[in-house]
Amino acid sequence: MHLLNVGYRCGIQSFYFRTGVTDVGSSALLVKQVSGGIYARAELLYTILPAYSQNAHCRPAWHVPRVACRVPLPQEDAAFTLPPILTFLGHFLPDRMTLSLQGWHLDETAAQLTLQVTTRARVRCPLCQTPTARVHSRYTRTLTDLPWGSYTLRLQLHVRKFFCDHPACARQIFTERLPTVAAPWARRTLRLAEHLRACGLALGGELGARLGHRLGLRTSPDTLLRLVQDAPTPAATAPQALGVDEWAWRRGQRYGTILVNLEDHQVLDLLPERSADLVAHWLTQHPTVTVVCRDRSALYAEGIRRGAPHAVQVVDRFHLVKNLREALEAFLHDQRPALQAAAAGTAQALTQVAGSVAAPPMYRGRHQSSQAGQQRQAAAQQQRHAAWVATYEAIHALRAQGTPVTTIAAQLGISRPTVYAYLRRTRPPSPRSPQRSGQVVRPYMTYLMQRWREGCTDSMQLWRETRALGYAHSARTVSRFITRLRQASAAGWAPETQTSPYTRPQGPSARAVSFTWVCPEAKRAQDAQLYMDQLTHADPTLAQAYTLSQAFLALVRERRGAALVAWMTEASASGIEALARFAQGLQEDLTAITAGLTLPWSNGPVEGHINRLKLLKRQGYGRAGVGLLRQRLIQAV
Ligand SMILES: [Zn+2]
Repeated sequence: MHLLNVGYRCGIQSFYFRTGVTDVGSSALLVKQVSGGIYARAELLYTILPAYSQNAHCRPAWHVPRVACRVPLPQEDAAFTLPPILTFLGHFLPDRMTLSLQGWHLDETAAQLTLQVTTRARVRCPLCQTPTARVHSRYTRTLTDLPWGSYTLRLQLHVRKFFCDHPACARQIFTERLPTVAAPWARRTLRLAEHLRACGLALGGELGARLGHRLGLRTSPDTLLRLVQDAPTPAATAPQALGVDEWAWRRGQRYGTILVNLEDHQVLDLLPERSADLVAHWLTQHPTVTVVCRDRSALYAEGIRRGAPHAVQVVDRFHLVKNLREALEAFLHDQRPALQAAAAGTAQALTQVAGSVAAPPMYRGRHQSSQAGQQRQAAAQQQRHAAWVATYEAIHALRAQGTPVTTIAAQLGISRPTVYAYLRRTRPPSPRSPQRSGQVVRPYMTYLMQRWREGCTDSMQLWRETRALGYAHSARTVSRFITRLRQASAAGWAPETQTSPYTRPQGPSARAVSFTWVCPEAKRAQDAQLYMDQLTHADPTLAQAYTLSQAFLALVRERRGAALVAWMTEASASGIEALARFAQGLQEDLTAITAGLTLPWSNGPVEGHINRLKLLKRQGYGRAGVGLLRQRLIQAV
């Protein structure tokens, strides 16, 4: 801070000022009045002070108006006025109509500015609303307000108590209310509370308090949370199209329900449970809903049927595609040899497209991983596989006894989707050979292959080059990848075969293929497309399954609900069990699915909000309750 003495003299009066420039880099300037009632506008002083503080002729007394004329002014500063300082400072009070500034005190050591303020509003009894002017007594109330620059601001408020003169009123004495300034018992102004609440809504308690501290809003995490919980709920809209979906409190254990207005994409509510009762209850309170978009759960279907019997139920298209993909994954689990054969075919096709590189001499000095290590890996793999088989058998046994899926999931400590995935399988999972991870090198593979094609085969050199690009791991990992490229070259394969998951000797996983399967062709990578070509050309059953599923996806994308029944008939007659079962499942919810394939509504906005909810949940380290999550989800800026 640098202090300058600034004087102001004009023909009639002479005043002496002392001014502290709090921050030379900004226009925040505090004018400290020593005597008189003159102020100079902060931006103006900031413009003139540095220039004149260098001036040897500068005297403690300045003629500010004349100086101001010499300084070229920005256009917006054309009209300067010189009102008394209290009038000027009064502009920054929370409510100028109610509050009147009487005096001020600046405590430099505590960086605190205290304003003495009285009230001048006309008062009505809070009970009977009769206006009154008969003062009972006065008392002082201290409120914290938004900070002014680096100074905390306190309002020392002299408020009144009044008599209520209405003969029938039960209230005889009441304190003055300041609805535009602060809540009745609050120690902070409304606008400070608003700022703090915004911090809390955006970041939650801990982070919000830390940000608040940075911004000069001192508070505790608990206070922020209280403010967030007390935030008034925005005026209820009358939603017509509603999106319903579940969200996980704890995956596999506890779920809640989210309700989103599909017209304006705003979250309407967050329910603590995934239950038909709660949804039905919510819908009875919101009778304007005419369309409800949901997943395929029978639970929500039941809740909607009870709560809004006239509403059109629409199954979300995303969930239909998801169900199809799951059916395909189950189907592909049984096609392991075909998946593997297609991988070899893809490697060949990729080599034809990309071209192989002549193999440089092979380096044979590196030792193989020890036999003990290999045995350990195999044992661990066997153990994992045994656990999968045990889970598979347990799930199928429980299901055969008629146990509900939710109970199976709770008993075995796994998620419902996992139970469903195991139930779709017709045989236990086969053992999977461990995969080399090489994940850290993955972002640099394109570069390494390009250098390899250019003829650079020195792995140490390549390691140094990748390090320059930001790779922060060992040379050994790079060297392992280069060895793979070398082996591929020696075998006559293109280097690209070493980076693609579709060319691995054991083939890609059924799950990975199922995702590629439902992905639109235009969005597939080159190797993925080559793989799909290999897979569907090799086997007529696979080709048929592919044609059928593409036909279904076309129905979904082009919204041709009318053609659904014909597709279902074809799928049931195809002889592909997984797809027949999928078609049979569609039959159970046919009306809602046909609506989903016809109407434009979808749960895309709901999924977006679920992602946001996950973020909010994690920001609270899993401790936030449904009330807090609901407030933050609905009201966050
Ligand atoms: Zn009264």
